[in-house]
Amino acid sequence: MPPVPLSELQSVLDRAAAGGRITPEEALDLYRWAPLHALGVAADTIRRRRYAGTEHIATYIIERNINYTNVCVTACKFCAFYAAPKDTAKGWTRDLEDILRRCAETVELGGTQIMFQGGHHPDYGVEYYEKHFSAIKEAYPQLVIHSLGASEVEHMARISKVSVEEAISRIHAAGLDSFAGAGAELLPARPRKAIAPLKESGERWLEIMETAHRLGVESTTTMLMGTGETNAERIEHLRMIRDTQDRSSGFRAFIPYTYQPENNHLKGQTHATSFEYLRMIAIARIFLDNVAHIQGSWLTTGKEIGQLSLHYGADDLGSIMLEENVVSSAGAKHRSNRMEIINLIRSSGRVPAQRNTTYEHLLVHDDPANDPVDDLVVSHLSSTAIEGGTAHPELKLLSAT
Ligand code: SF4
Repeated sequence: MPPVPLSELQSVLDRAAAGGRITPEEALDLYRWAPLHALGVAADTIRRRRYAGTEHIATYIIERNINYTNVCVTACKFCAFYAAPKDTAKGWTRDLEDILRRCAETVELGGTQIMFQGGHHPDYGVEYYEKHFSAIKEAYPQLVIHSLGASEVEHMARISKVSVEEAISRIHAAGLDSFAGAGAELLPARPRKAIAPLKESGERWLEIMETAHRLGVESTTTMLMGTGETNAERIEHLRMIRDTQDRSSGFRAFIPYTYQPENNHLKGQTHATSFEYLRMIAIARIFLDNVAHIQGSWLTTGKEIGQLSLHYGADDLGSIMLEENVVSSAGAKHRSNRMEIINLIRSSGRVPAQRNTTYEHLLVHDDPANDPVDDLVVSHLSSTAIEGGTAHPELKLLSAT
């Protein structure tokens, strides 16, 4: 028997489903004790009300992660991607020409967004990002640069000896459209110190994102589940985001994903089960009443859980990543393609739609007869993390190796 009566939990869920705000304490009780199905019903009711008129639709995006370097001074314990600066055998950087070719391929495949993602290179200050973002925008103005997060901003500002305000303004002027919110990991101090001791504090991470929002650069935000954090710390992570969002309104989406335990210093196992993940999706939709989009992660939890997340409050299944190396390096094995994502969404009872970075619907797949066939939009076409994740011969897609 839960220590909180089911009738009490249900009355909190009913209040939330009717549009009321719940407290962090109530969220923790719901997360720990509410029946999974009741959580899902309330979360789905909230999602349907928020998207009344388009509640039948669930979205995806086509993008490419472009990893410009794996050299990093921050040495997060959960990370299987980085190489310490002195590890010259493992470390690499990509030149601008290589990066632009990856952008060209993204455009060729109908991708609309790139996520520029890499380590905290000891030499890369604001100037590096200005140069690369302006070159990408000049060559491919149609590509949205949805990249980086507060940790990279803190690092580049330190390298260039400028304020974070100046760093954000300069890379925004050079072409950055929005921040991907990388580096949020877990915001409360204890679990953050345990897995990323050299990263800025959670409060500082939020302060920098709030500054970005004030300067007109919106973002998404994330949560890394399963490194040994408590339920209370998970809810505290949500509280910190909601309080910031009350002031800034700049977070477009919340994206929880699960820890992958291979090839890193933390090792162990993921402590986030599929049920915990679905509970988190639902509680995020219920508690984060000021964040529009909740994304289910098929990459780390699998396609079926991604599909189920659409019934627990998620409205988006994220991206078909033409290239992904970071989470895959740590053991994420799931792969997909556009036809499969469309089918996953449709067979979960929703109409699939390709979206852009700001969640506008670009293409609604409302008639299966018009679905793409023999499609070349496949995840991990290029990857350092998997065998054969290289090229479709017709497209001459770059190998990431
Ligand atoms: S997560 Fe990012 S900052 Fe941390 S070690 Fe990996 S590349 Fe570096």
